[in-house]
Order: sequence, then structure tokens, then C-alpha cells
Amino acid sequence: MADYDAIVVGAGLSGSTAAYCMAKAGLSVLVVERGDAAGTKNVTGGRLYAHSLEKIIPGFADEAPVERKVVRERISMMTDESCFTADFSSSRFQNPASASYTVLRAEFDPWLAGKAEEAGCDVVCPAVADELLRENGKITGIKAGDDELTAEVVLLADGVNSLLAQKAGLKKELSPHHVAVGAKEVVELSGGVINDRFNLNEGEGLAQLFAGSPSQGMVGGGFLYTNKSSLCIGMVVTVAHMAKSPNRLPDMLESFRQSPALKPLLEGGKIIEYSAHLVPEGGINMTPTLSADNVLVLGDAAGFCLNLGFTVRGMDYAIGSGALAAETVIEAKEKGDFSNAVLCGYQTRLENSFVMQDMRTHKNAPDFIEHTPRMFKEYPELVENIFADMFTVSGPSKLMLKKALPYVRKAGLLNLMLDGFKGSRAL
Ligand SMILES: Cc1cc2nc3c(=O)[nH]c(=O)nc-3n(C[C@H](O)[C@H](O)[C@H](O)COP(=O)(O)OP(=O)(O)OC[C@H]3O[C@@H](n4cnc5c(N)ncnc54)[C@H](O)[C@@H]3O)c2cc1C
Repeated sequence: MADYDAIVVGAGLSGSTAAYCMAKAGLSVLVVERGDAAGTKNVTGGRLYAHSLEKIIPGFADEAPVERKVVRERISMMTDESCFTADFSSSRFQNPASASYTVLRAEFDPWLAGKAEEAGCDVVCPAVADELLRENGKITGIKAGDDELTAEVVLLADGVNSLLAQKAGLKKELSPHHVAVGAKEVVELSGGVINDRFNLNEGEGLAQLFAGSPSQGMVGGGFLYTNKSSLCIGMVVTVAHMAKSPNRLPDMLESFRQSPALKPLLEGGKIIEYSAHLVPEGGINMTPTLSADNVLVLGDAAGFCLNLGFTVRGMDYAIGSGALAAETVIEAKEKGDFSNAVLCGYQTRLENSFVMQDMRTHKNAPDFIEHTPRMFKEYPELVENIFADMFTVSGPSKLMLKKALPYVRKAGLLNLMLDGFKGSRAL
């Protein structure tokens, strides 16, 4: 008999959600996590869309260590000299079902792993699952150091670079076009200063994404999120572009923090954390085989992450796929059949859920973003020139059209129309 019904590899959001749901249904579950504690190895920009966890733990934000509820959204186009920002706030962001929160993974992940433990899971950290155990070709558990642990099913929630999914033959090696590299700093500042600088009330938060000069013409961008008493700032750049660039990501992050748009916002702040991580950005094009006999793949390991330029989402997909993987394992336990005949129900559940529906809706987004470099240089420059002229008076005035036309011609009217059309269909 197996030691456990299910072993989950990775105590990120996908793994802990799956473990929590399975344990609540009475299954015996082991979670192994290679970090000293859940969350120590995990990186996120900072914003969790609440809808998926809200369905599993209603009202979770009242007890979970969330930082701030996001009520202000900003999108900025930056050049070396200028920054154009659209600032949007709405009372619609207050609805718990569609709210989003800034989170720090070092606090949020241990909370969720703790919920799984409370529900009855064994959570072991640090423990690295080095190999999948097999008997007569069938996956029967994991090898972690000298320990061999058996289970009816293994859930691979081990993140974007899932070596175990590769070893199981479910996933190919990562393509540099399908992953970005992200670097992030947490900058300590008092809550009062953050409220003043970002025009926020107590508990309210802001999310801001930047296109243009931060990524120095490459496919990528910058981000800023407000926490209770810190800011998260960072950069994400596609690996394929970064590999060819003479620039180093830490230097780009430093230029970003020294930029005229960011520097005053960070003044007096102290860097208390630095981290870097890969981000899956290939969308549906990088979906691995999601299930096989006695194994499932979830979260970032399955490539469930979307970067649409104005929003980065992976955490709600991790939670959503974790819950659907758990549902499938619970059915397999009831039927006493952990073969792919039952586990393939995970794929059907995903197809019927927001996870795969979003991957399909935005199937052209990664390709559009990668092949429209103008979004990262020419268009921010176009916006800079138009607005700089609009607000500069140094002699006789011109009509708006006369001011804008030369810049639009430079960027290419046809390019603008085509990119606008393609972008609206992809994003
Ligand atoms: C810079 C950056 C910014 C981002 N911004 C956002 C954002 O603002 N909003 C958003 O929703 N998403 C964002 N994302 C994406 C989001 O962070 C991920 O989609 C999410 O963390 C995926 O969760 P996961 O549980 O699938 O994987 P992970 O969080 O990566 O967890 C995997 C876990 O598995 C463990 N592990 C790996 N291998 C083993 C092993 N062999 N044995 C044991 N344990 C193992 C790891 O230590 C880790 O704890 C961002 C990502 C990055 C890198």
C-alpha cells in the first residue's frame, strides 16, 4: 500500500491549494517543498487576483496576510526623459469577487501551506523531490534525498522550470521565447509615506506597469506595487531578448529605480529583499501534457501564466489549476483508479474553467508581444513627443493635428493601425 494518496511537489500557490482541497476531502497528502519554508523560493511581482481563492476559502482576505487592496491602476509609457501615465481608480475594485490584493509571498505562501496543514496534510520543508519513483514503468512516488515516498498520484507543482515534468516526459525543455526573467526588489517605506506619495487611504493599494525605456527596447517592462510598508519594484524581460543583449538585468533594474519617474517615489526607502525568477510567458503554446497515469502537472509547471502588458497573472491560475487537480484526484480516489483514464478529467475541467479559456482567448498574445517591438520603443517615444509638444509653449501655437502628424508619420500610420488592430485581437 502507498504511503499517501497524493504527494504534491512544491508548496507554491498551486501545490498548497491542491493539497488543501485534497486534505479537506479526507485524502492523505504529503507536500514536499525545497525551500526552508513555503514562499522562500517564490517570486511574484505582487498582485493576486482574488476570485479563484475566494471560491475555495470565501473571505480569505480577512485572515490571510494580504498587503493592500488594489484600488488604483496605473499604466505608464516611459522614455529616458518622460513618463506618460494613465491613472484609473474605481469603486468596482471593492467587490470581493473581483478584487485584487498585493501580497508578499514570504508571508502569503506559509499561510496557505498552513491551511493545508490544518486540513491534515504533512508539509515537509526543506525537502527536494529529486526523482520520480517508478515500478514497472508506473509512477509510484518520489525520491527525496535518501527517502523514497510512495503515493497513488504525484502532483507536479514545482514551478516554471519543472525538471520532474521533463523527466516524466510530459514537458519539453523551456524555449527562451516562452520564458522571461524577472528581477524584483522590496523597498521598505513607512505606510504613511506610501499613502501620501500614491494618494492612497489606509489599506488601499496601487499597481503600476511601465513600458518603454525600463526594458531598453526589449520585450518586457517594469512594475511597481504598494504593500503595507514597502514597495515592490521590478523588471521582466523575455529570455530570448535578454540573451542577445549586452545589458544585465540588475543594471536595468538600477536604471529603472534611478529614472525620474521612479526615484522620487522610492526616496528614503531601503532595499530589504532582492530576488529573481523565471516567468512562463508562452501561454497555450507552452502547455505540456497535463496528465498521465498517476501524475498531474499544475500552475507554472503547466505554463499557466499570462503577461498581457497591462497585467501579469499567474497566481490565480496556479490556485485555479490546483483546485481542479484536487477535484480530479478526489474523483480518482472515489473510483480507486489513478490511471489517466480518470486523471485526464483534469484537462476537461481546465478546458471548462477560466484557466484554459483564458489561455485560449489570449493565445495570440505572446506572439503579438514578441513580434511588436515598437510597443517598447517607438510608441512610448511617439506618446512622449506628442504630449511634450502639447504642453510646451515656446512661440506661435500649431493645431494639434499639425503637431502630432510628423510623429505619427515617423512611427508609421500603417504600423499604428495594424498593431492597434492586432493588439486588440490578441490582448
Ligand atoms: C517577477 C515576477 C512577477 C510576477 N508578477 C505576478 C503578479 O503580479 N501577479 C500574478 O498573479 N502572477 C505574477 N507572477 C507569476 C506568479 O508568481 C506565478 O505564476 C506563481 O507563483 C505560480 O505558482 P506555482 O505554485 O505554480 O509555482 P511557484 O510559486 O514557482 O512554486 C513552485 C514551488 O515548488 C518548489 N519546488 C520546485 N522544485 C521542487 C522540487 N524538486 N522539490 C520540492 N519543491 C520544489 C519551489 O521551491 C516553489 O516553492 C510573477 C512572476 C514573476 C517571476
